[in-house]
Amino acid sequence: MKRGKLIVVSAPSGCGKGTILSEILKNPKYYYSVSATTRQPRKGEKDGVHYRFLQKETFENLIQEDAFLEYASYCDNYYGTLLAPIEEHLSAGDNVILEIEVKGAEQIRKKRPDATLIFIQPPSIEVLRQRLEKRGTETQEVIDKRIAQAEEEMTHWNEYDYCIVNDVLSEAVEDFKAVARAVELKVNQE
Ligand code: 5GP
Repeated sequence: MKRGKLIVVSAPSGCGKGTILSEILKNPKYYYSVSATTRQPRKGEKDGVHYRFLQKETFENLIQEDAFLEYASYCDNYYGTLLAPIEEHLSAGDNVILEIEVKGAEQIRKKRPDATLIFIQPPSIEVLRQRLEKRGTETQEVIDKRIAQAEEEMTHWNEYDYCIVNDVLSEAVEDFKAVARAVELKVNQE
């Protein structure tokens, strides 16, 4: 069985990555890695579907047990990728998509040099702010924090293999599909 490919996607929050990924994930060859987090669920988010929502203590125990492929702290909460389900899906030949922030991506870059890293940029910080405010799922204080975080994250785009600007959504989706197809066709070197 041909092993699946590992694809890492980072994008400042409010970048429209959810919409892009939902298009890609219509293809059953792609598996979306459900992360663990200590943040509170947003309205409509389901445990085990959007995230595994964990208590801080449980998350820290999993860190001690080396259960994470990577993890990071982001805006006062932990986020992490559990190793076991990723390995299971890669071995089954699925292409696995990790949607994680820049510190986690850096860890994957070191641990899994075969992974492909994709960065999605918003057209501008102003557009990002408008999108976050329109989404209305966060308080103004959290939005400001996320904007500051996004500005910092956007400086890391050149540490990725591909960078896609999400200005016109349909074009960003096409760009992502093109990269994903190229990754699929890439020869496994192991
Ligand atoms: P949100 O709270 O908006 O769902 O996610 C906040 C940030 O955490 C986003 O940049 C998202 O990509 C990142 N994130 C989600 N899951 C993980 C994970 O498993 N590991 C890391 N390092 N970051 C994650």
